[in-house]
Amino acid sequence: MSRTFTYKFDTPTYKGVSSFDVGLFIDGQFVDSVDKETIDVVNPANGNVLTSVTAGSAKDVDIAVQAAKKAYKSTWGLRAPGARRARLLNKLADLIEQNGDELAALEALDVGKPYRSARLFDVGGIVSTLRYYAGWADKIQGKTIETTEKKLAYTRHEPIGVVGQIIPWNFPMMMLSWKIGPALACGNCIVLKPSELTPLTTLRIASLINEAGFPPGVVNFVNGYGHTVGDAITTHPGIGKVAFTGSTVTGRKVLEAAARSNLKNVILELGGKSPSIIFDDADLDVVIPWTGHGIYLNQGQACSASSRLYVQEGIYDEFIKRFTAFSEAITIGDPFDGATKHGPQASKAQFEKILGYIESGKSEGAKVQYGGNRHGTEGYFIQPTIFTECKPHMKIVREEIFGPVAVVSKFKTEEEAIELANDSNYGLASSIFSTNINTAIRVAHAIEAGTAWVNCANFPEPYIPTGGFKQSGIGRELGEYALANYTEVKAVHVNLGLQMR
Ligand code: NAD
Repeated sequence: MSRTFTYKFDTPTYKGVSSFDVGLFIDGQFVDSVDKETIDVVNPANGNVLTSVTAGSAKDVDIAVQAAKKAYKSTWGLRAPGARRARLLNKLADLIEQNGDELAALEALDVGKPYRSARLFDVGGIVSTLRYYAGWADKIQGKTIETTEKKLAYTRHEPIGVVGQIIPWNFPMMMLSWKIGPALACGNCIVLKPSELTPLTTLRIASLINEAGFPPGVVNFVNGYGHTVGDAITTHPGIGKVAFTGSTVTGRKVLEAAARSNLKNVILELGGKSPSIIFDDADLDVVIPWTGHGIYLNQGQACSASSRLYVQEGIYDEFIKRFTAFSEAITIGDPFDGATKHGPQASKAQFEKILGYIESGKSEGAKVQYGGNRHGTEGYFIQPTIFTECKPHMKIVREEIFGPVAVVSKFKTEEEAIELANDSNYGLASSIFSTNINTAIRVAHAIEAGTAWVNCANFPEPYIPTGGFKQSGIGRELGEYALANYTEVKAVHVNLGLQMR
């Protein structure tokens, strides 16, 4: 018997009751774990326990893999035509859209993001991503390869079979869609682990997966800790591929474990410390709101947050004045208040980690231009924070803080800006602000990062690939590129009369 979570929302922005199963989702059913373990889920706005959800172990991962294998052979994989996979993905997107207010409320409750932002960005993101991949499902094609009249050769893009997927806590719904969208479009079955910190929307969506009509076992969700369920997904011999999004430290463990087990193929979407270069000729009316969005979106807990700001000396003072005023004007508070732009950090551990980085910035000699403290006395709120006078060796400049902390430095020349921007182990994203298109494009091409945003920031779209250079990852998600993650290419040679002597 699995357990149910019921919550009555009576808030200024959303009123309604949410009630759903919080067991493991295996073979189309909500079930208890073999060991009957649970994990508490905490509301980051006040630190109170919301509920406890079922937690799995390696034994449950094995049961889920067997269910996925059975579904792959009987109802999915090459047995489900692309048009059917497209129909089901579109149906799921429709159901998520219909339940969008409730899902946004659950995401706000679990992660701490403002409800209005969750409704627009997170619900909008999952729906558009699933629809985008529904469009691909009947367009997965190989090629005919010209040889001679004596041979027919062609390729097939076959599904991998059972794929493992592991996602983080910062954008649970969006990360879910980046994973399941392309995997299902290509005909794979899935064993996915949500973050143990934020499993609620994934579990709510499980019932929508059944309602959409996906055959049992095609999608399985095993909630649990990284060192148990995550490790079991990474090492299970029945899983052919693992797609991981999370920190660089964990990504390295995933790669090592996958190599040690069945040498499974791995895609890694990891951390970042993305630079934003603001030139003297940039339009500050464009720069300021995009820079604010770049670093403060989701309380700074975004992999591609524009966290290192390099500002040219001629515009520096005016930028600091206006960016400080922008940061001061951000309303911090209850995620369900319609005026709130900035909620709590997602967990106590993250809150403490960010405050630790702020202390290190102060002790290493950076200047707190704005913020730098906890906000209020309850929950895990931190003020939007700007550090100036930052030097390349400082921890706050080198390491991913994953919080609302912008570190600002001044530069003189374009060459210096490129050198500073590329002085990082990470290479996920970058922004360039300039009204000179030649400068902007030249610098965009010189930056070592998987994404360069020109006169904007931190704005992924389902049809544009994303991923990291250097230690920000291996492979690409989103766009057509993600399809290659979920297919194996088979070359077929057909002899039309070639004689072997
Ligand atoms: P994390 O690495 O701590 O955890 C990510 C997931 O991995 C969680 O589900 C966790 O339970 C699991 N995990 C932990 N140990 C594991 C192990 N040994 N084996 C297998 N799985 C394990 O990361 P997080 O704190 O949840 O997320 C924040 C990080 O994610 C940041 O570094 C951020 O930059 C990154 N991120 C990257 C992208 C991207 O697209 N590149 C997107 C979002 C987040």
